[in-house]
Amino acid sequence: MRAARQAVDLLLRAENTWRFEDPQHGLSDQEWMVLRFLARANSFSRSPSALAQFVGTTRSAVSQLLKGLEAKGYVERRPSVEDKRSVSLRVTPQGDKMLTRDPIGPLVNAISALELGANNFRDALRDVLGRLGTNQHRHHADNCGECIFLSSASDPAKGKAQMEFTCRFFRSGINSAEMDLLCFKFEQRRLDRAGG
Ligand code: SF4
Repeated sequence: MRAARQAVDLLLRAENTWRFEDPQHGLSDQEWMVLRFLARANSFSRSPSALAQFVGTTRSAVSQLLKGLEAKGYVERRPSVEDKRSVSLRVTPQGDKMLTRDPIGPLVNAISALELGANNFRDALRDVLGRLGTNQHRHHADNCGECIFLSSASDPAKGKAQMEFTCRFFRSGINSAEMDLLCFKFEQRRLDRAGG
């Protein structure tokens, strides 16, 4: 238990990399959160309402954040391909350039350099959050691989090695590029607790 408490203390010390009072490189911590999310969000998650759900705030608060990012040229709106009445948010090339200065960059680099491996660290954190029931928390987005809504089948025309993926929530095919993107409707598959 002592080591677990120390681990939590250490996690809390990392918090100031993503939460801060004064803007960093001209953006607030929430603006960074929005820019970071949109850069990695799948097509279902690039709307103001999805963003409000991810950030854990109201549509009007998200609208203000988006206005600021659009005025700075980091984000733009386009008509959604699926539904012309909706908008799809996109990070501009200028926004991509800004993301190279993301305050969480050093944390990402430090995790990449871990001797135990970033994959193992990620899986351990995912396990911890799964035990906490992350559905009750904000900022809950992840990729399709661990989601209960993903179904897969092999395509006989392409051979066994070629799997076709479908999202049962959005009733849509998922291509390999989308598999690694963040989704606001992600729900964690039940974790195997054997031995735990
Ligand atoms: S499978 Fe899950 S994570 Fe992937 S698009 Fe569907 S709801 Fe989102």
